[in-house]
Amino acid sequence: MTSVPRICILGGGFGGLYTALKLNQLAWEPGQKPEITLIDRQTNFVFTPLLYELITGEMQGWEIAPPFAELLKGTDIRFVQGAVKQLPHTEDPTHPAPNSVTLTDGTEIGYDRLVLALGCETPSDSVAGVSEHTISFRSLEDAYKLDAKLRILEAATTEKIRIAIVGAGYTGVEVACKLADRLKERGRIRLIQSRDKILPNATEFNRNAALKALEQRGIWVDLETNVSEITADSIGLIYKGQTDIIPVEVVMWTVGNQVSPAINHLGLSLNAQGKIAVSDKLQVLDRPEIFALGDAAAVLETDGKFIPSTAQVAFQQSDFVAWNVWSSLTDRPLLPFRYTDLGEMMVLGDNNAVLSGLGIQLDGPLAYLTRRLVYLYRLPTLEHQLKVGFNWLTQPLVKLLS
Ligand SMILES: Cc1cc2nc3c(=O)[nH]c(=O)nc-3n(C[C@H](O)[C@H](O)[C@H](O)COP(=O)(O)OP(=O)(O)OC[C@H]3O[C@@H](n4cnc5c(N)ncnc54)[C@H](O)[C@@H]3O)c2cc1C
Repeated sequence: MTSVPRICILGGGFGGLYTALKLNQLAWEPGQKPEITLIDRQTNFVFTPLLYELITGEMQGWEIAPPFAELLKGTDIRFVQGAVKQLPHTEDPTHPAPNSVTLTDGTEIGYDRLVLALGCETPSDSVAGVSEHTISFRSLEDAYKLDAKLRILEAATTEKIRIAIVGAGYTGVEVACKLADRLKERGRIRLIQSRDKILPNATEFNRNAALKALEQRGIWVDLETNVSEITADSIGLIYKGQTDIIPVEVVMWTVGNQVSPAINHLGLSLNAQGKIAVSDKLQVLDRPEIFALGDAAAVLETDGKFIPSTAQVAFQQSDFVAWNVWSSLTDRPLLPFRYTDLGEMMVLGDNNAVLSGLGIQLDGPLAYLTRRLVYLYRLPTLEHQLKVGFNWLTQPLVKLLS
């Protein structure tokens, strides 16, 4: 190890960015503060739980997706924009630098500790036409693509704007409610679900609130329905063995969670779902110098079940990874990760949300306000929280005066 340890973090989402910020704040011996490098293929962090607010224009891109350069200003964290290509196998004797990451542009970055937080993607190869004709909803680009398409349709003379949303999990339901509130009587929205109920993983209270919100907005829900094919202006729906071709202007694809393909090239042992197997200390099996967290890591709870892929989990894990990386570099014992389920929140249109957790169940405008405040508190860096909070306080006044 060189005199100053080098920590390299791959992926600047909920797992990676928050690990970097916490590592930067830990107490390091004088002269021993490590070189922390954060690598992401994007220039901006994305606070995904608030992405829906871009559909209705309730929030702006800079609030939800601040640039890494801005968030890391004033810290000792170096940001490198680049896509991860390869992690050399330690048993590969021909590689000149075993402890280094290679980016697609050929840059090599050495490390003493590596943190993997590359997240997941929405797969687009299960049905013909998905990659060519649908919009997913995971990134800032997806939200802008949807907005651009809606603007064109809103400016046209067509009476109805027909939208099919495939997948009635959290993303599908939340997108449907926001779209309905944006398009109002012009929207004709269909939610397509292969299972026999919406939100199979949600609490009953949240599912019932979601059903009510969908009904109030006139959103049609197709249960036990599969998709046969998608074209530029239609979607094929299979229900009880019969296929119907429905004309549509937009298809949103929100089904599935596939580990970032870069993981496959890293030479690590993966579980059946392609996730990185880690110990309870969040260390990659057989590679104690590498830590993994978030959607890409397979972590077992004490009851033997895998913990869910959520921002809440990645955020909690970032505390443990930062602490354990610090401990491993300062000869202290590492802590086992324990997940605390704080409940779940969903936004169900303008000024409407639902939440349940920690013995509390709430829906309507009060849940909407609570969700907003919780997320404001969770935004990265105090400076960004203050900027966004100030904007929320002053926006109504600006709108009134303009
Ligand atoms: C629309 C939406 C709403 C959500 N709402 C909620 C919610 O309300 N509550 C909740 O708990 N969870 C929510 N989630 C889930 C949550 O976003 C994820 O569980 C969480 O982001 C996982 O964190 P992560 O760090 O593992 O991955 P991510 O946050 O996805 O970060 C991964 C990062 O890695 C980068 N990356 C990927 N591949 C490469 C590569 N090859 N090279 C370089 N960089 C790369 C990506 O650009 C990204 O910045 C939502 C997800 C979506 C899509």
